[in-house]
Amino acid sequence: MRASNLYAPTLRNTPAEAEIVSHQLMYRAGMIRKVAGGMYTFLPLGWRVIRKIEQIIREEMDAAGGQEVCMPILQPSELWEESGRWAAYGDEMMRIKDRHSRDFCLGPTHEEMITDLVRDEVRSYKQLPLMLYQIQDKFRDERRPRFGLMRSREFIMKDLYSFDKDVEGMNESYRKMYDAYTKIFTRMGLEFRPVEADNGAIGGGHSHEFTVLADAGESNIAYCTSCDYAASDEKAELKPLDIPAEEELPLEKVSTPGTNTIESLCEYLHVSADQTIKAVAYQTDKDELVLAFVRGDHEVNEVKVINQIEGALDLRMADEDAIRAAGGCPGFMGPIGLKKGTHVLVDATVMKMHNAVTGANEADAHFRQVNPERDFDRGAVVVADLRMVSEGDPCPHCGAPLKMTRGIEAGQVFTLGTKYSQAMGAVFLDENGKEQPLVMGCYGIGVGRTMAAAIEQNNDEQGIIWPRAIAPFEVVIVAVNAKKDDQLAYAEGVYEECRQAGMDVLLDDRRERAGVKFKDCDLIGYPVRVVIGPKAVDEGVIEVKVRRTGEVYTFHREEYLSKVQ
Ligand code: ATP
Ligand code: MG
Ligand code: MG
Ligand code: MG
Repeated sequence: MRASNLYAPTLRNTPAEAEIVSHQLMYRAGMIRKVAGGMYTFLPLGWRVIRKIEQIIREEMDAAGGQEVCMPILQPSELWEESGRWAAYGDEMMRIKDRHSRDFCLGPTHEEMITDLVRDEVRSYKQLPLMLYQIQDKFRDERRPRFGLMRSREFIMKDLYSFDKDVEGMNESYRKMYDAYTKIFTRMGLEFRPVEADNGAIGGGHSHEFTVLADAGESNIAYCTSCDYAASDEKAELKPLDIPAEEELPLEKVSTPGTNTIESLCEYLHVSADQTIKAVAYQTDKDELVLAFVRGDHEVNEVKVINQIEGALDLRMADEDAIRAAGGCPGFMGPIGLKKGTHVLVDATVMKMHNAVTGANEADAHFRQVNPERDFDRGAVVVADLRMVSEGDPCPHCGAPLKMTRGIEAGQVFTLGTKYSQAMGAVFLDENGKEQPLVMGCYGIGVGRTMAAAIEQNNDEQGIIWPRAIAPFEVVIVAVNAKKDDQLAYAEGVYEECRQAGMDVLLDDRRERAGVKFKDCDLIGYPVRVVIGPKAVDEGVIEVKVRRTGEVYTFHREEYLSKVQ
């Protein structure tokens, strides 16, 4: 490729709306352009990076036994009705109607569609295990699309789905994917950490998030320095608090405040934003889910959260109007975190004791994963400890003090069990000829988000510093003065040699000043820059600069090739 033909409009200035460095640099380096909020066009350089990331993912998915398919983006509502998620998914789902007023969505994920695909075709255990994946656009109408590719509304995701005959098989598929993800992020040259994660509204069993470590990340990670324990703060286990027994909690009703901000709740509860409080959630005989806050002095404030909404695993995803109509306060549960913008942790030990799963994350977000019928009996009292994990808390595995860091969720793996196969009747005949539901897992990687994460982790004042495996070009050959025929001819020779050697190389043959070209090289972040100036033409001396270290080497024509490879 020749830079004179490349559509890569670089900018010296940063667009005002770009808040984080990856967004700024992708914009300035001429890799993306905004179409509308959370929607971007990839320009040639940006698209090359995307395709390289996709290719690494593809190779590792194939090596792990995955087979690539391509499903429609447009999905009929009927499939989602079967799983119960048409109602439950909420505002994040982009919904459209066709000319006959039939409901469709632009797929935010594909569990329903893939389950539909296999339920008619997989009949026998002999066809298992099966792993199918695609790399394709997903649509999510995010509440706050921001940070460029990091949280957009249309984004590219690799999603793989595994089908097994039993739980052991599913766990084996999960392990294969976990290992494949480890290889993928290692090959991309990223510093990452797999962390135990909450499995969110997708339902099912255990989960890990693959987080790329970077300050701009939205995930808080607790990790142990003496063993390999690492978990997101939504998931990290805490040492149980000394919580009074259920009977001792004086639960008296107080009026519901008509408010839904953290500040007003803190005021209502007379607590400061960093105080630890305890909360009690229980279900009344009127089917109301009630959350009571207990302060240190055991004074109780009780808040009616929501009337039970069918199928709502995650209130953020439920229809806000429906919650209001039912007398609830959408977005009310954020306050139990009591620290704006931070995540809240529910003590899993305590939860287990009461056989329930409840919790919250994100300011103004939601009461998470509560399904009273499923998670606890009617009338049960659930005690949740709403501390957040913090630096110095003991590691639940070895007791050593935990450290905290920030990361970007680039991928996530989940075991799903039979949630979708049971709801949608995806069954097979086992060795004994008995009908069984398929046992599933699902595994996503955000391709664009991974690109952004790579930049967050690899940049300096001059621009991006691409890890070689995902750089738009590995090597750039700069003809210092392309107006000089001898320099250009020499540079073309070097360019051809590099191409012959199998390198992904760009020839900067633009008739620009050398300074302009060097600035662009640093901004775009090619890992290796080869400079062809008068010294090359006259003496056969070639200058090679390594973007990451800034080191400059000079080589003779005969030896440079092995050095840049
Ligand atoms: P988040 O917690 O950031 O909202 P998620 O947990 O909802 O992400 P998953 O459903 O696990 O996302 O999807 C798999 C992957 O898709 C994520 O790990 C992430 O890399 C990517 N992804 C999810 N939402 C977005 C988005 N709005 N923009 C870009 N990538 C996304
Ligand atoms: Mg999300
Ligand atoms: Mg997430
Ligand atoms: Mg996720």
